[in-house]
Amino acid sequence: MIGEAEKQAVLDVLEHPILVHGPRASQFEKSFAQFVNAPYAVAVSSCTAAMHLYYLYLELQKGEEVILPAQTHTATAHAIEVCGAKPVFVDSEINTGNIDIDKIEAKINEKTRAIAVVHYLGMPVDMTSICHLAQKYNLKVVEDCALSLGSTLDDQHTGLFGDIGCFSFYPVKHMTTAEGGMLITKNPELAQSLGLKKAFGVDRHMGNRKIPGQYDVIMAGLNYRMNEIQAAIGIEQLKHLDDFLKKREENYTTLYRALKGLKGLSFLQSSHQHFKSSYYALAIVLNSHLQLHRHAIIQRLKSRGIGTSIYYPNPVPLMTYYKDKYNYKEDDFPIATHLSHHSIALPVGPHLNPQDMLVIAKELEAIIEEISNG
Ligand SMILES: *Cc1c(COP(=O)(O)O)cnc(C)c1O
Repeated sequence: MIGEAEKQAVLDVLEHPILVHGPRASQFEKSFAQFVNAPYAVAVSSCTAAMHLYYLYLELQKGEEVILPAQTHTATAHAIEVCGAKPVFVDSEINTGNIDIDKIEAKINEKTRAIAVVHYLGMPVDMTSICHLAQKYNLKVVEDCALSLGSTLDDQHTGLFGDIGCFSFYPVKHMTTAEGGMLITKNPELAQSLGLKKAFGVDRHMGNRKIPGQYDVIMAGLNYRMNEIQAAIGIEQLKHLDDFLKKREENYTTLYRALKGLKGLSFLQSSHQHFKSSYYALAIVLNSHLQLHRHAIIQRLKSRGIGTSIYYPNPVPLMTYYKDKYNYKEDDFPIATHLSHHSIALPVGPHLNPQDMLVIAKELEAIIEEISNG
């Protein structure tokens, strides 16, 4: 969903000498903070970078642990793993695909530093319970909001319940900057520190130096900045975000209504009561008979021009790297594994409209009928 405004904004950046450390990144931070109603926002190069920066800030290290859901993007685990700490995975709950909160407490010990939650496909995690646990055991809370831009709990945006919220602007997310991310927090000291850490821990960036070379290095850091080209795209995308989100909800509702009568399908819970989803995708969960034909269903939809995805092909702890390193067994995460192997994520993005949803539903109905008739 890249329009003329985004293209013009990129060209404008290229007409001027400042490609990094310019006014657009700051403006994008301000606009984003306003959109989600966050006190502080810091633009970074990706969601992964945001999470990694925070763990570096915590000085997370070998011998320490962070609890996270088994059903997530591998980035949520890698950010912990590359610090030398151990990611401790928890199975999903069947209704939403989110981390099973009832199974967290048993995993907490003296090595635990934080709980990282993921709002799976945009469905908010019950943050009241998470924060209660974190308080009880003095743990930090990280919210991976890569799929939850637009998701709220009691009208408060996800990312503002824990210590930090991390967003992604990778192309398939709710809005894009090609690559990019944003972290939000209510803690001014954290925002300031991560703002420096994302740029080598240098105390004064180019624009703030009166004469060249006038700077000091006051902490260890990396280069996790967002450049002006990305920020320029982000500023324009943000202007469309309300509309993007509205279209997603409309598409989701239309598709759900058209599918909910079909035999053999069940659905993950989406918005309910004070939980409001960002409607990242509509996940259908196939019964055991249809599951045998999942590949064929995906292929058939693809042949009709309908793209689908799987979130995620296996729970992270059952991916080779983690499975081998930590000796996980195939049946350690039964619910997450069930979702990985039985679900298909259907598209509801703003490039589509309710008419398209009816086409998808009709196609799916025909395929299921064919399978059922053998
Ligand atoms: C996409 C995604 C990420 C990674 O985001 P990047 O911006 O590519 O680093 C992390 N977590 C989840 C849940 C995601 O969906």
